[in-house]
Formats: sequence, C-alpha cells, structure tokens
Amino acid sequence: MIKPFAEPIYVTRPFLPAFDKFCDGLKEIWETRWLTNKGTILQRYTKKLADYLGSENICLFANGTLALQIGLQGMEISGEVITTPFTFVATTHALYWNKIRPIFVDIEPEYYTLDPEKVEAAVTPKTAAILAVHIYGHPCRLNELAAIAQKHNIKLIYDAAHAFGVKVGGTPVSRFGDLSMFSFHATKLYHSIEGGMLSFRDGGYRETFDYLKNFGFKNEVEVVMPGTNAKMNEFQALMGEMVLTSIDEIIAKYEILYKRYVAALKDVPGIKLVPGFPENTQYNFAYMPVEIDAYEFGMDRDSLYEELKKYNVFTRRYFYPLLTDLACYRSIAVEDPLTVARKVSSSILALPIYEELTIEEVDRIAEMIRALPKNRHS
Ligand SMILES: *Cc1c(COP(=O)(O)O)cnc(C)c1O
Repeated sequence: MIKPFAEPIYVTRPFLPAFDKFCDGLKEIWETRWLTNKGTILQRYTKKLADYLGSENICLFANGTLALQIGLQGMEISGEVITTPFTFVATTHALYWNKIRPIFVDIEPEYYTLDPEKVEAAVTPKTAAILAVHIYGHPCRLNELAAIAQKHNIKLIYDAAHAFGVKVGGTPVSRFGDLSMFSFHATKLYHSIEGGMLSFRDGGYRETFDYLKNFGFKNEVEVVMPGTNAKMNEFQALMGEMVLTSIDEIIAKYEILYKRYVAALKDVPGIKLVPGFPENTQYNFAYMPVEIDAYEFGMDRDSLYEELKKYNVFTRRYFYPLLTDLACYRSIAVEDPLTVARKVSSSILALPIYEELTIEEVDRIAEMIRALPKNRHS
C-alpha cells in the first residue's frame, strides 16, 4: 500500500525569494516612503521585464484581470469577440465588464487552444476581435489565428496568463498578436504576489493604458478619460523583480518535474498526456494536465480527484465547469456544440507542479495514480 503524504500537496505553491533578500529590498521602500504610483522599483522592474521580453511595449497592472479589462477598453473593442469556453473565468469576465458579447467556439484536442477552423466559421460583421488563450502555457495556433485576424481585419488578443517564459521560434509569446495579457498572480509559474501585464504591438496604446490604470489622470488637474485604479504597487514590483532573477531556474525545475511525470505516466492505460511540443516551441511546463479515460483507466476523473485527496494530494479540475455552463453565462446562446471542450473539461486533471516539489514526490503521486483504479479495462 502507498502511504498518504504526511503534509498536503497542493496543485501549486508560490516560489519565494530568500527572506533576507526581500527584506533588504524593502528598505528601499521604507527609505523613500514611496509605496505605489509609478515608484522607482516599478520603473526599474518594468525595464527589466522589457529586456527579458525584448519589447518596450509593456504596461504593468495590479492584476491580470484588470489588465485585460483595460486592454479591451483601451483598444475600443465592442460588439462580438470570438473566444474559448475552456479557460479561467476571468477571460470571459473581462469581456462582460466591457459589455462585449462572447462567441464561444470549440478548442482543438491536442493542446486545448482555440480551433482556428471554428474561429473562421464564427466570424460575422459584428466580430471585433479574437480572444484566444495560451491555455496551460500551450501556444495557440499563432499563424492560423493571425491569418484569420488579418483576413477579416479584426484584432487578435491573447490571454497569456499561463504563458510567461514561453517562446516560439525564439520569440516570446508576448510578441504575437495585437495584445497579450499576462497574470503574475501567486498561483502562476511567475508571480509578483498579484500582478498583471499587457504587451502590445502598437506603442501608441501605452498612453491610453497608463491613463486607464490611474483614473485617467494626465496631471494634477487634467483627467482625460474615466479610468479606473489598476496600478501595480512597489511591494508587488519588488517581488516581481526578485522572482524574475530566478525565472530560468524555476522553469528548469518545472521541466524536470514535468518530464518525470511524463515518464512515469506515459504507459498508464487511460491516461492521455499532452503531446510533445514542436521543435520551435520553448515551453514553460507551468501545468501538468492529464486526461482520464474513465473506461480504460478504470476510474473517472472526479473519483480520481476525490481519491487522491485521501492521500493528501490536492489536484485541480482546471478547467471545469466549462464557462458556458456557469450560472452567469448559461443564458448566452452558443451555436458551436463545443464537443471537444466538453469532453476535455469533464476528463482533465491538473497534477501538482511547483518549484519546491521533489522528484520523489512526483514518483509517489504517479504511483498512487497507477494503483488507484480497481476496474481497469485493458
Ligand atoms: C489567472 C488567470 C487570469 C486572471 O489573472 P489574475 O492576475 O488572477 O487577475 C486570467 N486568465 C487566465 C487564463 C488565468 O489563469
């Protein structure tokens, strides 16, 4: 019998810089008494991020959700936006807050990103943009989506909340499309406690985004637009700056754990893993999703999720329920049957992966998964 873990293992655990180092950094805040509003740490951090991403066209926010809301508003997106139902609720909420109608279409079954064929079929004269998600950090079908956006003269926006550190053809994913939103929430691979970033192609948007995140203030007496308050503060910036210095090591550790899971689970009947990534993709290994075929595996996804809890392993059903099934969006008419999204949402489980997780713990979790089903059919 496999013994349960003595302490709970959660799906993720935030990376933290050394305590002493962070305290040293805090001294700067205590000396200047500058806690928020474009302080020196935020400015320095913004430059470091721009260097890391190879683009000056970025803007930092209090969190990713407000960043996306402001991005959509600043680009004056209205009408209909084609998007995915297989994502975290904030993707669609950001549309709702801008009074934009979401048009949900299906995902592809390999990497779970928007299916370009379904997107193309859903374009109407009312379509203002595509809002695609690099779900689990898996890059979307970048070229195909870009071709559709160009053909119909609509904007291409990415929710890249999961995709920090991902590159395609050597280029950070932040530089694809018209706009990308990143979340630096504590549960993400890269974080600034809470935080968000917009990365945009057209530098002309910078001023608008800066206004919108600070009440629309141009100076002490001029307010040029009805903005909101979505500024990143100095404490967040300090955390973001410190975690950024470790990002390569963090990703390297995730890669080791991810590959260990793959090796341990690839032959388990009824467990479907994400296929390997194309040569030109540098993945960030941010999530460890597995699909459970209830019949072949001998246990359904929800039972596995519950059983693992008894062993002190807390996986997450990312992303279930499908957004279209939530009380707040159920009344929206959806034409696409969302066949793939429905199947994936009811069979997928995200396994624990974080910087401090050990190879031994991965092996033990994989061992539990192998041992749990009692009605295997193969
Ligand atoms: C986390 C997340 C967000 C929201 O980001 P916050 O920084 O928590 O506001 C948006 N979209 C997706 C896909 C996410 O996972």
